[in-house]
Formats: sequence, C-alpha cells, structure tokens
Amino acid sequence: MTTPSRKPHILIIYTGGTIGMIENPDTHSLEPFDFTHLIDNVPKIKMLDYNIDNIQFNPPIDSSDMSQKHWVEIARHIEDNFDRFDGFVVLHGTDTMAYTASALSFMLENLHKPVIITGSQLPIGEVRTDGEENLITALQIAAATDANGDPMVQEVAILFEDYLWRGNRSTKMSADNFNAFKSNNYPSLAKIGLGIHFNEEALWRVQAKRPLNVQYGMDTSVMVIDLVPGLTEAILRHQLATPGIKGIVLKTFGSGNAPTADWFRSAIREAVERGIVILNVTQCVNGGVHARRYATGNMLADTGVVSGHDITCEAAITKMMYLFGLGLSAQDVRCYLSCSLCGEMTLS
Ligand code: ASP
Repeated sequence: MTTPSRKPHILIIYTGGTIGMIENPDTHSLEPFDFTHLIDNVPKIKMLDYNIDNIQFNPPIDSSDMSQKHWVEIARHIEDNFDRFDGFVVLHGTDTMAYTASALSFMLENLHKPVIITGSQLPIGEVRTDGEENLITALQIAAATDANGDPMVQEVAILFEDYLWRGNRSTKMSADNFNAFKSNNYPSLAKIGLGIHFNEEALWRVQAKRPLNVQYGMDTSVMVIDLVPGLTEAILRHQLATPGIKGIVLKTFGSGNAPTADWFRSAIREAVERGIVILNVTQCVNGGVHARRYATGNMLADTGVVSGHDITCEAAITKMMYLFGLGLSAQDVRCYLSCSLCGEMTLS
C-alpha cells in the first residue's frame, strides 16, 4: 500500500446510524453528531493530513428506515462528486448496511474508486466506541493506492473492526460483537491489524476503465419467500400471488432444496409461467445452491427457477431491484441473474 504524493481528497457521506451519536455534555443524552464539526469531535483525523469534505443526510436516519430513495441519494452524491474526490466513505447504521452495500455495487456501474461503508456498534461519542477506529481506518482505506498509483479498492466495500469485506458479499452476523460483518463465501479484502493488509488477489478490478454510469431506477416489486417445514399450499400460493410482484428470492434448504410435493412444484411452475422470476438462494450462511445435487433441487431447476449459486440474500434482492429497474424482460432478468455482474457470486 502506498499513499499518493498529494493530499488524498475524501468525501464522507453521513447517513445516520449509531456511529453518529455523541453525548450532549449538558443533558448526557445521545444526540446525532454534527459532522460539520467532525475534526473538533474526532481530533485524530487531523493526523491523517487529508482533505476531507462531508455531506450529511438531513435528518440522519436509523438504517432500518433505509429505502431505495436513500440509495439514490447516496449514489447521487457520489456521482456529483466523483471527479473531485479520490474516495468516498459512507457512514451508515449497521442493520441494513449489507443491503445498501449490495445495492450501490449494482447501481454504480464501472466504479473504479473506493466506496467504503462503515458504522459502529457503539456511538462515536462513547468512551469505548468502535466508531472512531472504524472511521479512521475507512478513511485510510479510501485513500490507499496500489503500486501503480491507482486506488487500492475500486469497489463498494464494508469496513468493520478487523476486516474489509466486499459489499455485495457481506452479511450482518452479530448484533453485539464489534466484528459484526462477515462475507461467508468470499475472502476478506483486507485484514486490519497493526497495518492494513490488503488481499490484492481478492480485490475487484475492472476489465477496461469506463466512465462511472449510475443506474437510479431500483424497482422494488420483489420479495423474499423463506421456506419452512410444514409450509402449506395455501400460504405459498398466497405469497406467489402477491399483487405487482415481479421477482422472488426463494430461500431454500441446504444446497438449494425444496419440498417434493406435487402442489409445491405446480405452484412454483405456474408462478414462473406467469412471468415471475424466481431465484433460488440457500438459507445456509456458507456455501451455495447446487441445483442438481438432489432430486429436490432438480425439481426447482426444472420448473424454471434460476440458481443463485452462493449469492447472499441481500445481494440477490437488490440485484433483482436493479435488473427490473433497467426495464429488462423477465427472460433477460433471468439471464443476468445467472451471471456475476460485479463479483457478487461464484459460479460453480
Ligand atoms: N439501528 C441502528 C441502525 O442500523 C444500529 C446501528 O447503527 O448499528 O441505524
């Protein structure tokens, strides 16, 4: 890792979440932190000697309220400032961080600069906060360059405590631990210790550098159906008949398996024939769909359900939003769901 000869120019986009909380010295209650006074509140940032600008959501939001409108707002800030900054740090609540990271990875086509998303489990204004360290490390990663002077990270990534993860491979794993995120099917992009040790083999590199192209049209006519033993025909048919639905992430057992009952097969086949795109994603945190390993998986593949391989549910649902947002036909959406667009799945 090298540092550029001129001062790195980094834009912080603060959306909300726990990281932005600080104790009011008079009332002792936690209040959203004013990022216009970032350096006063986190004086260590001065030691980095970067040019840092910031933009904040007004008002900052808890990430449980995140929606496609907020993804558009973040993407708009990145596009508007893309040429003026070397990298972007997005401060975000942890609850839906993996969805935002996945969505941005699809929306920001041809991305070749770092978009590092971070947050914290404890407010930045608390004594034992993990927020200060996460923010500083995220800034350092956003400023890091490789031996050619190009940005070390050229994708959307999540920095949390000891690791940097690919955004569209990440999942929130813990509501309590400082190491709250993990990518169960892809190695870490960097390990944070005394230094920041990048795993250069795992980092995303564009084939040919093209101008950033942002897709703003995320179509949310999609849903997740999680299989459980004992699922009835009535419930499944009701879910599949949800008005306006175009795509479904079907969370299946093990390596992509589902009940073998005739009614199940018929209900799924009829939905596919009505033009609904169904993507098979495993409920397991590690590993993926191997559609033809068992007869129970064979049946799904035969009804026209697409294999999601080892994609996360967060990446699957946001990839569908992105593909339908492009106005593609169901057949084209199925085709793109079978390909890895920006490193979101491993094709077995
Ligand atoms: N509920 C908070 C949020 O996601 C939790 C956090 O920030 O970690 O915004």
